[in-house]
Amino acid sequence: MMLSLKKESFFQYTLSDLQALFETEGLPASGPGKLFNWHYKQKHFDPCQKDIAKISQAFIAEKLSFDLPEIDTVQESSDRTVKFLFKLSDGKKVETVLIASNQKYGICLSSQVGCAMKCSFCHTGLQGLERHLQTFEIVGQFLAAQKWLSETRPEDDRIATIVFMGQGEPLHNFDSVRKACEIFLSQHGMSMGEDKITISTAGYLPGLERWKAEMPDVNIALSLHSMNTEKRNELIPINARFPVDKVMEIVNQIPVTKKRFVIYEYLLAKGFNDSAEDARELGEALRGKKAFVNLIPFNPFPGAKYERPTQEDANSFKAILDELGVPNLIRFTKGHDILAACGQLNSKA
Ligand code: SAH
Repeated sequence: MMLSLKKESFFQYTLSDLQALFETEGLPASGPGKLFNWHYKQKHFDPCQKDIAKISQAFIAEKLSFDLPEIDTVQESSDRTVKFLFKLSDGKKVETVLIASNQKYGICLSSQVGCAMKCSFCHTGLQGLERHLQTFEIVGQFLAAQKWLSETRPEDDRIATIVFMGQGEPLHNFDSVRKACEIFLSQHGMSMGEDKITISTAGYLPGLERWKAEMPDVNIALSLHSMNTEKRNELIPINARFPVDKVMEIVNQIPVTKKRFVIYEYLLAKGFNDSAEDARELGEALRGKKAFVNLIPFNPFPGAKYERPTQEDANSFKAILDELGVPNLIRFTKGHDILAACGQLNSKA
């Protein structure tokens, strides 16, 4: 008989999965809560020995692994943004970015190695999909970045927000992303607020259709980039299969709480989708909705076929949205000097 020696990652388990495992194994029911508290709340990276029954400790030592993605390279930007290239256990690599703001950080997580969406303006999209990430690899990016921060910048090491805006289409890897969110939100662990997590999608309809019933109540961001079918088809090829009207219909059914808005991302590519007419089409479509628009001037990368508009062009686009009463902001890029901005991530670069 072949015995599998491979350990399962602890970071793969939601609290209820771990409780079920402990129950099946006949281990004391208090263990899972204590383990979540030890690893996620108290930020310990070594296995827990405290207040854990000997029998549970033995099980954990034999069956569970606490390995994190390995840091391949770290780049620190002059604005304190940090870009990690993490190496996974099969040698594949993903990028994760810490974005500094005041005394805290936002973390930008990857959900896949590469991406299947093939958006024409995105460095990752042009790379194609290699594989989905598992939950422990998503949670692992957070923990490995947290560990680096705590060791390197102990005076300000708080990660306050999470965005799924790194490599990959998070809704194409729905189950792993959902489970990772449950771990981030767990009251016994990190206790992240639901309004502190944002999942960004290119409009992957099969995932959006599951959102309302299955996803915890986190923020949604939709990459719109154009209301014009031809232009959006060129920018985001899945628009041909999942047209934006249908996508917005489903997004509108996702309940947003009082203080929250659906975030619409709009990439501004010079001379392509940044005209006054484009701005009016966008403004008219969003007028009166609980919407907030993030205008993202195109971030160039080697070989890209679009150009970044000038600040003035971006301001004129913004002014039209302002006039139509649609709240919006131009997102100033961070980490520019280390190619850590949206769409510049490419594990092969
Ligand atoms: N797959 C998800 C998350 C990807 S990245 C999505 O499509 O939303 C997060 C945001 O960065 C998306 O709005 C994406 O369209 C945008 N983006 C990608 N490449 C970019 C680039 N080169 N310049 C500016 N924004 C880009």
